[in-house]
Amino acid sequence: MRPKRVLVKLSGEALAGAQGYGLDGGTLVALAADIAHASREGVEVGIVVGGGNFFRGVQGLNKGLDRTTADSIGMLGTVMNALALEHAIEAAGAPARAMSAVPMPSLCESYARKRALDHLSNGKVVILGGGTGNPYFTTDTGAALRAAELDCSHLLKATQVDGVYSADPKKDPTATRYDTLTHEDAIRRDLKVMDTAAFALARDAGLTIVVFSIAESGALAAVLRGEGRATYVTP
Ligand code: UDP
Repeated sequence: MRPKRVLVKLSGEALAGAQGYGLDGGTLVALAADIAHASREGVEVGIVVGGGNFFRGVQGLNKGLDRTTADSIGMLGTVMNALALEHAIEAAGAPARAMSAVPMPSLCESYARKRALDHLSNGKVVILGGGTGNPYFTTDTGAALRAAELDCSHLLKATQVDGVYSADPKKDPTATRYDTLTHEDAIRRDLKVMDTAAFALARDAGLTIVVFSIAESGALAAVLRGEGRATYVTP
């Protein structure tokens, strides 16, 4: 795989390191180095970042918040991550621009498709915070949406495991890993590649979803060279 432009979905959890909450400095530096490396190799990289390391809407429901307020807090968490990534990627030597789907002009640019496309074609890594900008969605759906509208050929879902398995490999030792799947296979076998809304959007847009582990350093650049271990979910 030598794609021209990709969209990477990075969960908030990926930034939390071993502490499991908030931002871990070492993890941020390592991830940023990997992303900057991929960008220097000439791939246009957009990133949709999650916010689960700070807050997920469902946590707010347990605290008595209504869904819209809880999701608004969740979206703010994703913008915090986007700002941290913007700084870390620039410090790693690649130009980067954070954009938010929820306008916060004193903090970062507001998301606009054509501006994002300009940044990408000028070699900037574009980090998209705020998910879709609407409650009742996840950043997985935001990633599928942005991948489709920014004409990305691949949606790279960075996880803690090296692909899609027939069952959870942490719980079931007989789980087997797939190298390739079609969208229809994933539905027929009820494999949870992404949440349902995100997967439906990715399938309808004909996106290839690449599920890989971000845990080792250099993982993203390796996958983009077609070398890393990953599951390819194709139309
Ligand atoms: N969120 C939202 N709309 C979106 C994307 C995210 O309301 O389009 C909120 C939602 O509450 C979600 C939280 O932001 O739980 C953090 O996003 P997500 O759970 O997708 O983060 P991840 O699990 O990838 O870290």
